[in-house]
Parts: sequence; structure tokens; C-alpha cells
Amino acid sequence: MSLLVVGTVAFDSIKTPFGSVEKVIGGAATYISWAATFYYRNVKLVSVIGDDWPETEIHHLRARGVDTEGLQIRKGQKSFFWEGKYNNDMNSRDTLATDLNVLADFDPILPESYKKSRYVMLGNLTPDIQLRVLEQLTARPKLIVMDTMNYWMDVAMPSLKKVLSKVDLLTINDDEARQLSGEHSLVKAANAILKMGPSYLVIKKGEHGALLFYRNSIFFAPALPLQDVVDPTGAGDTFAGGFIGYLAQSDNIQYNYMKRAMIYGSAMASLCVEEFSLQKIQTLTHDEIVDRLNEFVKLTKFNIKLNYDSNDDE
Ligand code: AMP
Repeated sequence: MSLLVVGTVAFDSIKTPFGSVEKVIGGAATYISWAATFYYRNVKLVSVIGDDWPETEIHHLRARGVDTEGLQIRKGQKSFFWEGKYNNDMNSRDTLATDLNVLADFDPILPESYKKSRYVMLGNLTPDIQLRVLEQLTARPKLIVMDTMNYWMDVAMPSLKKVLSKVDLLTINDDEARQLSGEHSLVKAANAILKMGPSYLVIKKGEHGALLFYRNSIFFAPALPLQDVVDPTGAGDTFAGGFIGYLAQSDNIQYNYMKRAMIYGSAMASLCVEEFSLQKIQTLTHDEIVDRLNEFVKLTKFNIKLNYDSNDDE
């Protein structure tokens, strides 16, 4: 059994009201793989980098049990580069640069040992590349999760819809859900998106938490109110890594497990944003995760009488 992760492995330059960092490690697949390994150690990475990406970082990934046989390293070429600037509310950001570099002509080749992966996480990436990965699988995975973003909706909507028709769960943010569905109400947007293929939909709302839609049910996972959000980059990917890592560990995708996975994912994301890049995730301890999960339990735990009687107020 394994968890296949495809996505960008990148350099990022990030500006937030707390400061800025240049050419730090990033990429959707980097965040996903790191977060997933806290729950599930058999992660298989598919991506591409230039020979400028630090070798020590590849060793770090391997030390966490990530199989990097599917990570192509292109000699003399540059890794994917993304530059973003967050606005003061930290909920919105402007992309200042997206240099595809090695990603421009990336053809993902799945090593033989990857082809029967039971769990697949299609991180944010060109939809055609996500499709190429699915085409090479020789057995239907138990769960395929897909992440995407507005950028691909703008430039590759037909391919994006094709991938969507083949996956079980989509994660996107609220603006993207509105763009994809053409609906303003998130409930209507979710209903429309669930007709496009996936059985489950996760709508991420940044500091306002995340919603899981399945048939007629909706589950809400709050985001933990934090004193300081230093850098929201990778929060969505870290959520996805924690989410699917927990499901792979449990090997159970029933709705109850999905709901729990929402909390595991949210806890990981809340830790990720406390420092720039992957600094927090790379130094995280098991105790810190348990403490954070406890904070989520405390945040949402309450007693209520369902057969409300007005005399109780007196
Ligand atoms: P998130 O904050 O969860 O959206 O993820 C941010 C990460 O996604 C950064 O580390 C970037 O390197 C990567 N990224 C940014 N733009 C793209 C894109 N168009 N396609 C794939 N990955 C991207």
C-alpha cells in the first residue's frame, strides 16, 4: 500500500506583513509529502526539479521515508519558481511571478512500484500532467484527491474538467469554487461541482476553516484562531497532506474518517502558517501535533440540550 503524491517541488519568494524570504523551498508536493509523513510513511513522490534545488532537501525527504524515484532532476535547468505577496488581511495574495521552467515540458513517468498506489494526491499542477499520472495507474486507487487553483481554471479549464471527472475528492478555496461553478452560494457551488465527477468536495476558507460536502451532508472544520499568521503559503497543501496521510494510515474512507481527516488536515495547516516556508513543518514534533489537535477539540466542544425548554434559562 502506498500514497502517490504529484505536484510542484519549487522555489518560492514570499512577502507578508511579517517580512519576506527569497528563493526558499516550496511547492505543493513538498508541503503535501512532508505533512503526510507525520501520519503515513509510504509516500511516493512524482515531480521535476532542476539541478538548482538543494540536494540536502531531497535527503530530508528520503529520511522521512519519501520515495523519490519518481522525482526527475534536470541537469542545467531551473526548478519551478513562484513569487507571491500577501495583503494585510493575509487571506488574499497576488502572484508576482510563475516561472514554469522545468515544469513546461514535464512528462511524469511513474516507476513500476508507484503504479498500484492505493491513495493518490494530485497536487496543484497542470491538469494535463495530473491526467498523465492517472493514465499510468494499473489499478484503481481506493481514493484519488485532486487540488487545483484559479490559474488552471483561467488557462486550462477543459483539461481540468476532464481530471475532475476521474477523481473522488476535490479541494479548492471558496473563490475557486465560485469560479468553477458560476454560483455565488457555496452550497449551490458545491452541488454543481459534485455533479462534475467527485463524490466529495472540500472548500477551504482560509482563516474561516474548511467545509466538507458529501451527498446532502456538510461538515465544518474551523481554523484555529492564531495570534500570528506569519506565512500562509502551503497551508492548503499541508491541509491536503495531513488529510490524505491520515486516511491512508487508517485505510478507511468512510464519512466519519473523512470528518476526522478534516481536523487532522486543519491542525497541520495551522502549524504550517506559524513560520515561513516549511520551517515549522520540518521541525515539528509529535507532541506539538497532539497539543494542536487538543486545541481543536477544546475550540469546538460544547454541551447542548436538544429538547430545549425555555424554563432552563431561569
Ligand atoms: P498554497 O499556498 O497551498 O496555494 O501553495 C503554495 C505553493 O504552491 C507554493 O509553494 C508554490 O510553489 C506552489 N504554486 C504556486 N503557484 C502554482 C501553480 N500555478 N501550480 C502549481 N504550484 C504552484
